[in-house]
Amino acid sequence: MNLLTDRWVPIKDKEDGDRPRQVGLKDILCGRDPDAAIYLWRDDLEFAVLHLLVVLTQVIAAPADAGALKEREASPMTEAEYDGLIEPYIEWFDLSHPEKPFLQIRHEGKETAIQKLFPGLPDGNNHMFFHRPGEIAEICLSCASIVPWNQANNVPSFSGGFKGSLRGGSPITVLLYHPDLRRCIWRNVLSEEVIEAHFPQNGSELPVWVTGLPVRGSAVESADIGFARGLLWQPACVELIVEEREGRCDSCGCASSRMVREFKKQRRPYEIRGLWPHPHGSVRTFQKKGKEGKGPFSVFLSLNNTIPPWRRLLDILLEKEDPADGYRRALVLTQYSQVWKGASLPMAIGGYISDQAAIKGRRHEVITLSAGWDERLDEFQKIVGLALDLKDILLNKMKYFFLRVLGSDAGKKAARKGAELFFERTERLVLTALQNGPPPDLKERLDLIA
Ligand SMILES: [Zn+2]
Repeated sequence: MNLLTDRWVPIKDKEDGDRPRQVGLKDILCGRDPDAAIYLWRDDLEFAVLHLLVVLTQVIAAPADAGALKEREASPMTEAEYDGLIEPYIEWFDLSHPEKPFLQIRHEGKETAIQKLFPGLPDGNNHMFFHRPGEIAEICLSCASIVPWNQANNVPSFSGGFKGSLRGGSPITVLLYHPDLRRCIWRNVLSEEVIEAHFPQNGSELPVWVTGLPVRGSAVESADIGFARGLLWQPACVELIVEEREGRCDSCGCASSRMVREFKKQRRPYEIRGLWPHPHGSVRTFQKKGKEGKGPFSVFLSLNNTIPPWRRLLDILLEKEDPADGYRRALVLTQYSQVWKGASLPMAIGGYISDQAAIKGRRHEVITLSAGWDERLDEFQKIVGLALDLKDILLNKMKYFFLRVLGSDAGKKAARKGAELFFERTERLVLTALQNGPPPDLKERLDLIA
């Protein structure tokens, strides 16, 4: 199955909502299915499909500059144009290529059940309370393209000795959203101008599965990773085992003549030096002690249990050069704010909440900030700061109550639980305030609290 020529994108028509079907990248970019929406049974997998569509389009058809990008977004391309654009890349995106299959390295490795590539589902038989083991026994080639892509980009590595993504274990992916899938894709495609300004120009542009993975124990400089190679990075040595037989996919429900029940994987440790400037995530910089003394250290933002998602929303938007406390917006956001100046900001934001290799939860949602959002960042900071201050006041009072009134030292534990509840119950309120501005009577309300 080839991702550039076959129909693999699971969609549902908005008007005739009950019948999911599959379309190809060509159908979408040539405007044949203007009402289609990506459709799968899990939001994280739908998000991974959008991300893969963005990256495929980016690699085959980067527009020269902002003007060309706006033209692409405004109207569908012709079929002849599409066929010409994909020609040099056809070999890269064939899932069953005899030597260089998409996202895979052919090797002798241990066989693992395919369910391991569905984050959050058990891969052993010790979680019977929540899921039946073997819930996903076999999948079609469409799903077999989507789940390894998700694993390579968004999920912590399988275990020690397996490398994780270029953005770390479980990064937050930030994309622009538009209800028209074709336009949504283009809003996330960088122009050549932006690529030249931000990415290594002398690095290799070939995908890992074409050149082979870095040698075991070697070190790779991020500056040697070209734009296409970095976007398509497959950190681990994996290979799908494709069987020629009729079956029905346990993930999307489609009938298929080729099924995947297992994949192979093999440990291949190597090191990447320096952060590759991936365009679909925001970066935080802070001071950290390393081998060569204290210095600035940069990481892609990720989700965790102790920082609420609305705090992360602010971090995603910040742009601040500071080696001790710096932020850099995802490049797709920076480009959008320049090309579609003054427009509202609808974002698709997604990521897993992980604890080392274990997935504890996931957040995938669309959040829209109204026009003028980039002039309101100070206001956002105040709203978030105020919410965090209020949480501290409440939790301190709670600790005081436990310690002084009840004479119990259970206050810390209660405060931890209290913080979780505070984040959970205030989330809608804070997000609404960030999206629409604070309520007009905020000052009076605060006076009441004081
Ligand atoms: Zn499927």
